[in-house]
Amino acid sequence: MDLTPTLERIAERVRPHLAEGKVAGYIPALARVDPQRFGIAVVSVDGRVSTAGDARVPFSVQSISKVFTLTLALDKVGSELWTRIGREPSGSAFNSIVQLEREGGIPRNPFINAGAIAVTDVLLEGRPPQAVIDEILAFLRRRADDPAVAIDEEVARSEADTGHRNYSLAHFLASFGRLRNPVDSALSVYFHQCALAMTCVQLARAGLFLAAAGHDPLSGERVVAPERARRINALMLTCGHYDASGDVAFRIGLPGKSGVGGGILAVVPKRAAIAVWSPGLNANGNSHAGTIALEMLAAEMGWSVF
Ligand code: GLN
Repeated sequence: MDLTPTLERIAERVRPHLAEGKVAGYIPALARVDPQRFGIAVVSVDGRVSTAGDARVPFSVQSISKVFTLTLALDKVGSELWTRIGREPSGSAFNSIVQLEREGGIPRNPFINAGAIAVTDVLLEGRPPQAVIDEILAFLRRRADDPAVAIDEEVARSEADTGHRNYSLAHFLASFGRLRNPVDSALSVYFHQCALAMTCVQLARAGLFLAAAGHDPLSGERVVAPERARRINALMLTCGHYDASGDVAFRIGLPGKSGVGGGILAVVPKRAAIAVWSPGLNANGNSHAGTIALEMLAAEMGWSVF
């Protein structure tokens, strides 16, 4: 089905909401992004690509990258990962420090910053950060079926220069003996994965395996086993929007992962992957107009996992 007219209508309807969100100001390279940008792409399991707006303009995927690093880490260590990271919604901000200290350095889930930093530590396994950064980039290029996917070095540097909270979280993890690699190595990987620049089309294509029981329906590759895809989706639904995950499940009812670049990747099991981008964020650090657009699309299509 060609969803282009539907997406174009949604792009038109969300326009008044674009100015309501606030662009992430704490990462200087992101603070400069035009808040009027809006893009949306749907890639269906049968390979149809429908888009509207700036769906082919690269943006900083930020925390959406955590879905892909989690996938790689599970591939490396399997369920042993869950001895180091929890699987519960945090009910706290994505960069909260208090909970990490109270809970002895075990991050609540792999999508809050502390959890994602612990995931990068798993991926490092004593290797230099560049080897892991290359592995992540290669994985995203393959999943997006596009060699043009790149890392924006300026964004990575900008985060490293201002990432005091992430340094704090990583040092807390280390102080509890939860990191096996140097703090700087874990953070170098983390800042670079967050600085991946991708378009909505690339991102939706990259997430398609999650809509197809872990198998890439277009290339035929098995990316993860079906039960693992189900579990990644479960984590996205319960933890993918931080302390707004409940609200997003209520309003949209699809597994999703947001990033402070204003992107959201959402999964419609057996049907499609959706990526939406609008840089203005709500108070929880999720795309304001992007969430509204997903709500409209899910309602119109009757898409929900419930
Ligand atoms: N790079 C961002 C940070 O560490 C990622 C947070 C996000 O996208 N929610 O703060």
